[in-house]
Amino acid sequence: MKNALLEVADLKTYFPVKGGLLKNTKEYLKAVDGISFTLEEGDTLGLVGESGCGKSTTGRSILRLIEPTEGSVKYRGAEVTSMGKKELRKLRKEMQIVFQDPYASLNPRKQVGSIIEEALSTHGIGRDSNERKGMVLDLLEKVGLNATAYERYPHEFSGGQRQRIGIARAIAVNPSLIIADEPVSALDVSIQAQILNLFQDLQDSMGLTYIFIAHDLSVVKHISDKIGVMYLGRMVELASKDDLFARPSHPYTQALMSAVPVPDPTIKKERIILTGDVPNPSNPPTGCTFHPRCRSCMEICAEIAPKPVEISPGHVVSCHLYDPEYNCAT
Ligand code: SF4
Repeated sequence: MKNALLEVADLKTYFPVKGGLLKNTKEYLKAVDGISFTLEEGDTLGLVGESGCGKSTTGRSILRLIEPTEGSVKYRGAEVTSMGKKELRKLRKEMQIVFQDPYASLNPRKQVGSIIEEALSTHGIGRDSNERKGMVLDLLEKVGLNATAYERYPHEFSGGQRQRIGIARAIAVNPSLIIADEPVSALDVSIQAQILNLFQDLQDSMGLTYIFIAHDLSVVKHISDKIGVMYLGRMVELASKDDLFARPSHPYTQALMSAVPVPDPTIKKERIILTGDVPNPSNPPTGCTFHPRCRSCMEICAEIAPKPVEISPGHVVSCHLYDPEYNCAT
């Protein structure tokens, strides 16, 4: 059995929303509202959902790039939310992030070599600049870039190549966990596949654990061991990839799943069109926050928020359809 690398319990990240004449705090935007999951070493958790559902805030709250409001994040059993600056600095070496837009996170005035070298020197890796240069050249090769990239600037690269630079910088410090925040969303489909393959190769060779954030189930399908589906700051369904694809149970997951292309065009499947936009998280709908868009909505749904129900080992769904309390279990 694999060890748990990360245990997240009831994680909440709320942002105050100021309003009124005195600009005092009127309400809270519940960007992350009670997320729980365990991630085993060497596995990948795919986090999916539409924009604004709290996926990126979840990733950043785990790393404490954004301070969570409540809840627990344990990394190898150590509580991250109560760590002081010194401990957190050490932890940053273990947990890295890859951003959606690497260009925005790469200093345009620095050569690629010095961008990656900086990650090494910040964490005291390498005896001197000569040794660090050798390490950077190895890293460039590892991510499929040529040694000439060392002296070039970020703007000289394509989107896919820039993502490779972002990945090289993340793996430079030999982390255990990488949070990849929509790392392929801005890329062409053919390039997406190459970058996904690179993530998989690095996972195999370095034993990395990933949280892989995407708005599209088809992107996380191949890379994930487990998938969490998020809606308005909550995890509405969590299951192993195989269970989720075999038995998508939450009506929101079913709608996302219906948009995933099937390899065999003769197989006809119903496309569930989600009507309306994701509601404003600072003023979410009552009860089940998905109820205004749910085609299975019942009277109870607008009144009471559903509890998580384990419908099979490790497959958890937050929906009244599966809660025996309402006598409507399927
Ligand atoms: Fe739909 Fe009700 Fe389930 Fe929410 S609780 S997903 S509204 S059936």
